[in-house]
Order: sequence, then C-alpha cells, then structure tokens
Amino acid sequence: MKHALSLPKIAGISIYIHWTFAILIAWIIFSNLRAGLDAVHIGWSILFVLSLFVCVTLHELGHALAAKRYGIKTTDITLYPIGGVARLEKMPENPKHELVVALAGPLVNVVIMLLLLPVIFGFAWPENEEAQRTFVIDQSSFLPMLGVVNVWLALFNLIPAFPMDGGRVLRALLSMQLNRVKATEVAATIGQIIAIGFVFAGFYLNPFLIFIGLFIILGARTEAEMVKSQSFLQGYTARDAVMTNYQALDRNQSVGDAVRLLLDGEAKNFLVNEEGRPYGVLNRDHIIRGIQTAGESAPIHTVADTNLLYTDIAMPLQEVMLKFQQSKQTIILVQDRGELVGIIDLDNISELIMVNAARGRTT
Ligand code: ZN
Repeated sequence: MKHALSLPKIAGISIYIHWTFAILIAWIIFSNLRAGLDAVHIGWSILFVLSLFVCVTLHELGHALAAKRYGIKTTDITLYPIGGVARLEKMPENPKHELVVALAGPLVNVVIMLLLLPVIFGFAWPENEEAQRTFVIDQSSFLPMLGVVNVWLALFNLIPAFPMDGGRVLRALLSMQLNRVKATEVAATIGQIIAIGFVFAGFYLNPFLIFIGLFIILGARTEAEMVKSQSFLQGYTARDAVMTNYQALDRNQSVGDAVRLLLDGEAKNFLVNEEGRPYGVLNRDHIIRGIQTAGESAPIHTVADTNLLYTDIAMPLQEVMLKFQQSKQTIILVQDRGELVGIIDLDNISELIMVNAARGRTT
C-alpha cells in the first residue's frame, strides 16, 4: 500500500499505518502543549493513543478471524487516524455469517474492557468538575482509561450507521427479511442520515466526527452501488462477457505501436505476448505513463504489467468482478480447460451491468 508504514504481519495479514496518522500524533502534541502539559504527560498521551490503536487493530483482527471461519481472506488492515479498516476479500452474503463477522470486532473491545474491569473499578475517578477538567493520562489513570475507551469503541462501532459495524448488523438483520440489494439500500440510507448527524455534531464536539461522518456517507453509497452492480451479474459466468477477438501486442513492440492501436480502435486494454504466449497486460494508463517516462520508442515490456490474472470460463461473473476490485487490474485472461480463449476487461462487465440495469433486472 502506498503512503503507509508497514508493520509485521499478524495471522498472515499485512498491517499498515496510514501516513495521516502522523497528523494525529502532531495534533496530540500540539493540543497538549497548548494545555500546558509537560513532556512526561505528553509522553503518556502518545502512549495512550498508540495503545488505543493496538485495541483498534485487535478489533479489526476480530473481524478478520471471524471472516476466516467462513473461508473469507483479509487482504490487509490499515490504521487511519479515525480508526481501522480491515479489507476483507468480500463480505459474507449469508446474513448470519455477516452478523458474526460484524459483531466480532466490538466483541474484542468488550473482552478488553472485561479484562480491565478490576482497574476501572479500583480507580478513584475525578468527582468534581474541577478535577475532571484537570484530568490527565498518567501511570495511574492509563489502564482504567483504556478500559473505559474500549467500552466507547464497542458502543460507537455499534451505532447502526452502515458501513460501520452496527450498520452491518442492521443490514444482516434486514437481509433475513428483504433481498440483499434492498436491505443494503435501507441500511445505507439510515447510515447516511446518521452520518449527517455526525458531521453536525462534529462542529460542536469533536472534529474527528466530521471525518467519520464523511467517510460513512461516501462508504455507504459506494457499497450500496457495489451490491446493486453485483446483483445485475447474478446468473452470468465469464462465458457471457469473454471477448475472443481481442488486441494483442508483442512485448518487443514499441510504446508508439501501442499508442497507434489505442487511438485506432475502441480497445483500451491489450494483452502483451512473448513468443505467442501471454506475458503481461497493457492498459491506457500504462501507455500514457510509458510515453511520459520511457518514451514512445521504448519496448512495451518496460511498461506492461506482468501480473497476469486468470479465470475459468465457468466462473460466475460476480467472482470475476471481485477479482477486478481486489487486484485493481483491468484485464483478466479467460481459460477453458486450461487453454486461453479470450479476455475480459472491466468495460465489458460495466456494459453488461448497464444493460441489465436498463432492462430493470433485479434478481
Ligand atoms: Zn469494526
């Protein structure tokens, strides 16, 4: 992942810290300095936030390990200042499975809170307003406060604002009654209404709520659209979208040859061969970047993407679509009994979705 710090893998899952995390740390230092705290207390504050994000990581691992039970892999976990995101290969479509996966994260925070329960109750919490105002994180308040924050993490994540955990719980419960597209639509709408509330509350309470609100508004829409697109592909296989007449170039042809082919026809994605066998793929972005960096006389193999993705012709198109989304590739090679028979590009699938949407097919 770009612009992120990579941490050691846990349970085979890559963990990244997004660069914007540095802003959070800077903000803590800045606000603590402004409050007149000394270096020791600022140190405790930073340690606290880092520990908090260890809890967030464990929360995300909760989702990931629950998903693993249903055979769903997690690509990676990324920590942003507003929270963590576990990128699951796909969401379980069985509502019961989705319910378990959604609840597994907050459950981790509940467990952490239960472990810290003795220190939470053993701590002398400030009683009057003056003591609350001057309350700081130090060695005595560190663990009790971490316990309390885990309660908040669990509760906050369970707010039914799709795609937050609570919203996923809601979608799963709705899916038991409605079809998945409708259930997602309802959950996403409720999520967006709550998110607008977050944005407004953010102006008064905490600016982080504004970011979380915006994140939910965009996320809810994107995911509702995705579920809808997926539904239009129901019942189709790679056979329905495969292009058997596709453009191929040799790896030693020049970037300029690719430019001519790009401008000449409608194809934007090309297969690159080496002695007649698939070597890589070339899309419009590769060609444009190739002109800028290598020049038009450079051979194609210097700019082609050599990661080849294959699918069987009998593969459901929904799975092919997931492959596209996970890999960010624009071409997938289609095989029939191990023989290359054609390619599918993202445009093919998009066209099929548009056609079926126009036909009003919503199975
Ligand atoms: Zn979660």
